Parts: sequence; C-alpha cells; structure tokens
Amino acid sequence: MGEEDLETLTLIRVAGEFVTYVLFPGIDETAFAERIDWRHRESAGLDAIISPWRKDRYRIAIGTAVPDLILSRLQAVNVEGETAARAERLGGIEPAMTLAWFAGVAFFATHEACHAAAGHVAYQKALNPETSTGDLPRPLDLATFRLLSELEADGAAAASLLSADYELMRTIEGLSSDGDDRADSAMMFIVIGVFATLELLASEGPVEDGYPTPETRYLNVVAAVFRHVAPHLLLLKSGDYVRREASGEEVQNVANRFRHSVLPALVALNHFDVTTPFGEDIAALLGGAVPNKSEAGRDLARYSRNRARFMRALSGFRETRMWDDFND
Ligand SMILES: [Zn+2]
Repeated sequence: MGEEDLETLTLIRVAGEFVTYVLFPGIDETAFAERIDWRHRESAGLDAIISPWRKDRYRIAIGTAVPDLILSRLQAVNVEGETAARAERLGGIEPAMTLAWFAGVAFFATHEACHAAAGHVAYQKALNPETSTGDLPRPLDLATFRLLSELEADGAAAASLLSADYELMRTIEGLSSDGDDRADSAMMFIVIGVFATLELLASEGPVEDGYPTPETRYLNVVAAVFRHVAPHLLLLKSGDYVRREASGEEVQNVANRFRHSVLPALVALNHFDVTTPFGEDIAALLGGAVPNKSEAGRDLARYSRNRARFMRALSGFRETRMWDDFND
C-alpha cells in the first residue's frame, strides 16, 4: 500500500470518527452514531454502501476514491477576490482549502449517516416483504420516498456540518481559528466543500424518474444554510418551513452574512449566476422566500408539499429524535 492510499484511508477513518464522536453528539442526544461501523471499500466511484448490520447497527462502507474525487473538484475552484481574502484570514489558501476538503468528506459521510439516522434504511428494509420483520409500513410511492430522503439527508448533513464549524476548524493544522469574522470565513470554506461534494453526488446519482435534479439539491442545501444562519426567521408549520415576519434589520443582518460568505463560495464554484432564474431562486432562498423562478425551484416548492406525508410514513422508523422538530 502506497503512502497516498494510507492518507486516503486515514481521512476516511477520521471523517467517520468525526461524524460519530463530534458531529452527531451535537445534534442527537441518543448516541445513535455509535451504532455505525465505519468501513472503506475499494471503488473508483463516489459511492458508499450502507447496510443494516447485526440487530440494531449499521455498516457504512465509503468508497476509497471519495477523498480524491472531492479534492480534484476543489482544485478547480477559483480562489480569488473575497474568497482569497477570507482564506488569508484563516491562515492561507492551503489550510482554508484543507478545511473545505475535510468538510466535503465529512459531508459525504454525514449524508450516509443521516440516511440511517432518519430511518430511510429501516423503512426500505421494512417495505421489502423478504426483509420485513413485521407489518408492511404505510406505503409511500417510491419516487416521493427517494426524492425526499435524498433532500432530507443533504439538508441535515449540511446543517450539522455548519453547526460544527469550530470543531471542523480545530481538525485542520495551521488554520487560525481566532479573529472577529472567523465564523463567516469558516462558513465560506465549509460551504465550498459541501457544495463541491454535493455537485459530485448529484452528478453521479441515478437519473431515474423521481430522483432530485442537481439544481434541486443545490437549492435544498441553500435552504438548509438559511435555516442554519437564521432559524429565528423561520417557523414550522405542518412539517414545512414558512417564513415568519421579521424586522428589516434582522433580514439585513442575514443578507450581509450571506453576501460575504455563501454567495462568494457559490461564485467560486461557478454555481451562481444572478442573471439566470436559478440564480434568482438561490437569492430568494437566501432571503427566506419560496423559490419559483426556475424549474428546480418550483420542483423544490412542490416536493415540500409532500413532506408531511413523508414524515408520517417515516415516523415509526426514525432512529433518533433529531427529526422531532419537523413533526406536526
Ligand atoms: Zn443519499
């Protein structure tokens, strides 16, 4: 085994440990992630296999190419202008992009862990007459199930990564973690890592009917970033988020944070062009509004109307209480 392979396997192991011992304890009181057995598997693709294991455990085997694929995508990021200035505040482009890389690998692992924690794996197992151990659960059409479980795993993984910004920063050697706007600088590079990985995940996902398009997945994660930065601007209603009346000043504060962190990150990844309907929908979501300019935006709004039904179907399969907030 070469040195690079060892580095890859170490990164996969550290990402799994980070998810289990740092990230999940911050969002889940049940120590669910200790029931995950992290593995790696030889593969050239951006993939992972997640399977129920023993009585109440899960085994998640991450493909050995995952770290390199994410790194290659990150090497194509344009670190210039505001992005370069923020990297300097974190100690330079190298530690800043290492933060993005680790955030990307951790996002990938967290997305899989969220499929287990959210009961997506258990629900599928119960639906299958060959693996079901009890009554078949309340049916949900497969397309709706797939769509909403991917979007749910993406959103929960992105939000939990952003909540663990300080812990993520501490894992990176040479990264300076003090300074006034350290959090926004870190958010920028965590967002770069998350979106680079999301782009790879979305482009490798099946194109079967019912899978969310890459654009829908981006908009969904932008919505998750908004919920992370401005939870006080949102209210829950029937399992879906609606915007609460907020003062102009509150909205302005959020808009300012986005203008100097999330937007330049999306620009660096070439994911944001204000002149397109998709760009307008990103801007709408960052302002807490419903996206309706692009097809992806309208799709996302339409899917959210199925969310209450999805929540009810999954309610007996959730492995943690993380999802309770979404219940009616
Ligand atoms: Zn998935």
